Amino acid sequence: MKVTVLTGGVGGAKLVLGLTSLLPADRITAIVNTGDDCVHLGLPVSPDIDTLLYTLAGRFDQERGWGRTGETWSFMAALRELGGPGWFNLGDGDLALHVLRLAAFARGDSLSEVTAFFARAFGLAATILPMSDDRVATMIETDEGRLNFQEYFVGRKCAPTLRGVSFAGAEFARPGPGVLDAIAGADRILVAPSNPWLSVDPILAVPGLRDALAAAPAPVIAVSPLIAGRAVKGPTAKLMAELGLPLSNASIANHYAGLIDGLLIDSGDDAEGISIPVARTATLMRSLDDRKRVAGAALDLAGAVAT
Ligand code: GDP
Repeated sequence: MKVTVLTGGVGGAKLVLGLTSLLPADRITAIVNTGDDCVHLGLPVSPDIDTLLYTLAGRFDQERGWGRTGETWSFMAALRELGGPGWFNLGDGDLALHVLRLAAFARGDSLSEVTAFFARAFGLAATILPMSDDRVATMIETDEGRLNFQEYFVGRKCAPTLRGVSFAGAEFARPGPGVLDAIAGADRILVAPSNPWLSVDPILAVPGLRDALAAAPAPVIAVSPLIAGRAVKGPTAKLMAELGLPLSNASIANHYAGLIDGLLIDSGDDAEGISIPVARTATLMRSLDDRKRVAGAALDLAGAVAT
């Protein structure tokens, strides 16, 4: 069985890791948001792709919530000493990956190629596909003006009030190599419990992707990022409130209307106002067993709506 997952960073990587303990990893494809990508100090930064790589390689620092485990910080210390920007942290090991990615780009390699290279270097059998090799930049319209994603998320810690989200360059972007095939050829498609507006919408903004998902023969199941009307982490709930949306699973189902065939929600949550099939499990993923349970429940719901 081939499973394709649309995913952002942390929340999505948890689900993909759960899948790898249920299925042979070479049957799993993650289509990853690149709208948060940026260039920092000349280095190409792809936060969600790197979160997937580090998570599947068992190198993700879960406590910190980003970057590699066992990281050292000599580079940042030297950078600060020289008066360089300290707001965006790059650990020494992380820096190595970023320098290699820059070198690959300088040779003319694409983001897909360099991502596949890192996946091989980490010994990963799952396929990690950037949504596009073309630049798409998630832009946040706020009460303080337009901010790029990293300015909003890291620089301002999501403090400004959000008025809207747009994806600069999306109209010219092409789906990354293998992306449309991974959707059309999947037996099951999952939308990870990533932020629907900031992590999944950029993927859907790539021309052709939304239509491919709507036309996919496989059942499409989303896992809700909300538990008891709150986000597990990050700005999802704050953003929904600022967009005037009720903090409910119905809002998540509405957001994906026409694209998903079922929604997995937390055991304690109601399904009021949701007209597609719903399944429940404890969706908070702390342990590997939790990740397995949520991935298994999403696949079960996919199986149920497929029959
Ligand atoms: P980012 O790109 O690193 O910010 O991460 P994502 O967009 O992939 O994930 C952020 C979203 O994942 C938030 O809305 C969280 O509520 C959700 N999330 C994170 N961990 C969990 C979890 O264990 N269970 C569920 N249901 N959602 C989660």
